[in-house]
Amino acid sequence: MAKKQFKTESKKLMDLMINSIYTNKEIFLREIISNASDAIDKLYFKSLTDDTLKTSGISRSDFKIMLTLDKDSRTIKVADNGIGMTKEELENNLGVIAKSGSLDFKTNTDKSKDIDIIGQFGVGFYSAFMVASKVTVLSRAFGSDEAWLWESSGADGYTIESAQKDAPGTEITMELKADTDDENYSEFLDEYRISGIIKKYSDYVRYPIMMYRTKSRMKDKPADAGEDYQPEYETYTELETVNSMVPLWKRPKKDVTDEEYNNFYKDKFGDYSDPSRIIYTKTEGAISYNALMFIPSHAPYDYYTRDYEKGLQLYTSGVMIMDKCADLLPDYFSFVKGVVDSQDLSLNISREMLQQDRQLGIIRKNLEKKIKSELTGMRDNEREKYEEFWKNFGRQIKFGCYDGFGQNSDTLKDLLMFWSAKEEKLVTLSEYIENMGDEQKYIYYASGDSNEMLMKLPAAETVLSKGCDLLLLTEDVDEFCLQVLHAFEKKEFKNVSSGDLGLETDEEKKAAETAGEENRELLDAMKKALEGKVKDVKISTRLKEHPVCLSSEGPLSIEMEKILASMPNAGGEKPASDKILELNAAHPVFERLKAVFTEDTQKLEKYAGILYDQARLIEGLPIDDPVEYTANVCSLM
Ligand code: ADP
Ligand code: MG
Repeated sequence: MAKKQFKTESKKLMDLMINSIYTNKEIFLREIISNASDAIDKLYFKSLTDDTLKTSGISRSDFKIMLTLDKDSRTIKVADNGIGMTKEELENNLGVIAKSGSLDFKTNTDKSKDIDIIGQFGVGFYSAFMVASKVTVLSRAFGSDEAWLWESSGADGYTIESAQKDAPGTEITMELKADTDDENYSEFLDEYRISGIIKKYSDYVRYPIMMYRTKSRMKDKPADAGEDYQPEYETYTELETVNSMVPLWKRPKKDVTDEEYNNFYKDKFGDYSDPSRIIYTKTEGAISYNALMFIPSHAPYDYYTRDYEKGLQLYTSGVMIMDKCADLLPDYFSFVKGVVDSQDLSLNISREMLQQDRQLGIIRKNLEKKIKSELTGMRDNEREKYEEFWKNFGRQIKFGCYDGFGQNSDTLKDLLMFWSAKEEKLVTLSEYIENMGDEQKYIYYASGDSNEMLMKLPAAETVLSKGCDLLLLTEDVDEFCLQVLHAFEKKEFKNVSSGDLGLETDEEKKAAETAGEENRELLDAMKKALEGKVKDVKISTRLKEHPVCLSSEGPLSIEMEKILASMPNAGGEKPASDKILELNAAHPVFERLKAVFTEDTQKLEKYAGILYDQARLIEGLPIDDPVEYTANVCSLM
């Protein structure tokens, strides 16, 4: 019989399959089973809508997918009682691929990309050729008496001939390739291995996937068995349904207990503790999907490393198509685990990649909204749980706020929490604002290594003594996050160590101004002594007990300078903040400075250096020359 040639694209895809170096060959079974399931769907649908079929007595319980393994002939057979194919359909469906042209092999010469396509989306029927040297398809279309046998041993073409089949449906028989040094194909004849693959990818297919399993049992003890009777065993086979069919996420929420959800979570995502939150959502409309998501109760050990892979498991009609679909989750919610099932992605998933992307985009947006509203609910109604969540994943939310010049900060700013020095607990930004006095202009914060250290900052004391609250920021991302936000409900953020605090009374301002004018020459002399180190030397309005402090001007704070300095390979010169040395005019040290200034200019330079180094130490900055500093202090003693 004359061989027919595959269409060009099909031949290319076939070549790719036959010579595939793709390691995850087991997915061929998922593809074949999903086709069988689709075929049953089609017939079932027809039986519901087409009147003439109602009389044919088709019931849902009759449908099944039957798997047969035969070690002798090295074949796997997958049989369904679905809609079947006519001769034309066999030709059109199995002889042509990529009708939509989205698998554009002409432009895609990158081999690794091809492999990605196989891995993520599968490529349907042709994937059988990854493991089989010969594939036959025996099919009889529903409503027809004729059956046809399609057969192909690879890229050189296929044949179709008339055949016999008792009932409508399709039987795909795959003859496995011979094992090689690198590849073991015989494993696909192993019942245990095959049932494992079915459970992994096709567990939630709506129809039973059945298979004879070999089992062993003890023979009955013969009546005349003697004292020394050893039990005997025999093997037998039993038809089993391998898949569990109804996925947990498809069951109405009211029918599922929390314990079932928790067990499912632990099982599926390999966690030892219950999730902190279960998020269930179901949407019908332009695009329908079910999603079952979880917020873990602790951060995975690799969460804040590059190794962590975000993503939700993606199913279409019970068939898993992607284990970690990263596109479904924004980075700032990357801690969410779960599954998404959408029948709208089903038939064209391997082809309409672009369109499918658009649909995924819609789902992603909805899921993001849902996650956000769950977190908001937790914040308002389960505060303790939310604080626990914040401890685990707050850092990620803060990064999300800062990332991309704050493009997502509107979504995330309400979720932020920081430590309040006044309340001694975590507060949200709107809670901070609610507790603000009418005349308070700014949201104050201090940034540094620990709460203890920050509470000792001279400026912290000033802010608190005026009755204002102060947010204590101790994570490196914190200040960057607030800087990107710039303001919250029109109240600007203010680092207590930079610029004017806006808290000074008119008298205080006046006093500082007068002291500055009276001591102009002294301040100028110190500024000269510290040239290149500070931008200015000023009389402070923020100091109460301490003689000196450093503050900064401009967008880069001293704390940010420290963080940038500690970051690896930022490359080139690290940016530095513009520093101001502030002096407390009411402190005895200042009197001493005034005296020294009139007596001995060299000594004044030395004092300026010491005070500057001390101010750096208070800020947690390294000093340029510790030996010189120590020598200077000693010489004073
Ligand atoms: P897809 O499933 O994405 O359409 P496939 O390559 O898996 O792509 O299958 C190609 C086509 O072959 C299917 O769309 C279907 O029309 C037909 N087909 C494959 N397997 C079967 C089957 N078991 N029963 C009926 N039709 C089938
Ligand atoms: Mg398919």
